Amino acid sequence: MTPAAPRVLTILGATGSIGVNTVAVAQALGVRVHAVSAHRKVDELARIAVAGQASVAVIADESLLPQLRRALSGSAVQAQAGPEALCAISSCPQVDTVMTAIVGAAGLPATLAAVRAGKRVCIANKEPLVMAGELIVREAASSGAELLPVDSEHSAIFQCLEHHHAEEVAQLVLTASGGPFRQVLDLSQVTREQALKHPTWSMGPKITIDSATLMNKSLEIIEARWLFGIAAERIRVLIHPQSVIHSMVTYRDGSVMAQLGRPDMRVPIQYSLTYPRHAPGPVQPPDFASLGALTFEEPDLARFPSLRMGFHAATAGGLLPTIMNAANEMAVADYLAGHGRFIDIFQVIERALAQAPRVAAPRLDEILAADTDTRAQLSMR
Ligand code: NDP
Repeated sequence: MTPAAPRVLTILGATGSIGVNTVAVAQALGVRVHAVSAHRKVDELARIAVAGQASVAVIADESLLPQLRRALSGSAVQAQAGPEALCAISSCPQVDTVMTAIVGAAGLPATLAAVRAGKRVCIANKEPLVMAGELIVREAASSGAELLPVDSEHSAIFQCLEHHHAEEVAQLVLTASGGPFRQVLDLSQVTREQALKHPTWSMGPKITIDSATLMNKSLEIIEARWLFGIAAERIRVLIHPQSVIHSMVTYRDGSVMAQLGRPDMRVPIQYSLTYPRHAPGPVQPPDFASLGALTFEEPDLARFPSLRMGFHAATAGGLLPTIMNAANEMAVADYLAGHGRFIDIFQVIERALAQAPRVAAPRLDEILAADTDTRAQLSMR
């Protein structure tokens, strides 16, 4: 094991795309996994827990606890269930690092539990930061928790910002592949299969659709705003189809720092675990001679109104990011379930934002209520 990673880990969302990669990276580093969680994939969770010699496995859906117990019988892994158990494995004293890889707002309570317990919190699950970034950053400052970005763009910016101060920064530049519809002029006819085929990254279904709508970039603007303490007005999005430059920081003297690499999430996952060291890893650097040109374009806000909405929510703050996120989660779940057209996702979010109440610096209970209310209103339609 590298000396920078003497860590005991909880992996929230261990059965997902980030979760499975984290299990592999932890194993390669020799990091002990204390606890793992999933939502409903009982057998997959049990297999991961037993193979990784975890002490605890938590299934978020409490009705599946008997099934999990059966799947773990004869092993040393303890079966637990429900939201309180997720918070317990995120804050227990046996663990010093928590990988948040649950998808969506459902990850907020466990993220907050890890932050309040002063853990190193490796943040893949960006939606809690979108909803309650101000609160999470404040709680981390008081508990001493370390917030380590896992999103490749934020990991890149984090590295470009090392040893620098926010006031030296002119702009954060978030790069975006542009998704599968970068060159499609009429988005009214695109299919689900096309939307689920990301050109450069392999990810879970929700973030893959978010990448196709560019809503993922909107969530990332808000994520960056809180992680790096830089106002949304100083964050720019640039389309970079090759996904080689993961993001950049421009400084006030005109110099630009960028972080480059292959599009493979094991790299930022590993760096969040081994920070401040770069440990040996399974991924080779890009072969620059065979890469060809690296190109850049402005995003098209007319075809991708989600990005305009994201800048608006990031700038206005309050409950707008929570409402935008809840509406997006509902619209994407509906779309993934086979309903509606791709462009309906934009309309659902637009309508929810138009009705959003103005609340400056909302408390946690107001954020949670806005999330619940938005979902309730949309499910009545
Ligand atoms: P996946 O859909 O692949 O995995 C989601 C995980 O969360 C699964 O373990 C799932 O369990 C669990 N889960 C789902 N719903 C709930 C719930 N209500 N309560 C508790 N657990 C739940 O997602 P990804 O791995 O793609 O993404 C995870 C997070 O990381 C997202 O926030 C995403 O935006 C972010 N991210 C992902 C990247 C990627 O490359 N995939 C890149 C950067 C960020 P089960 O399997 O049982 O359903």
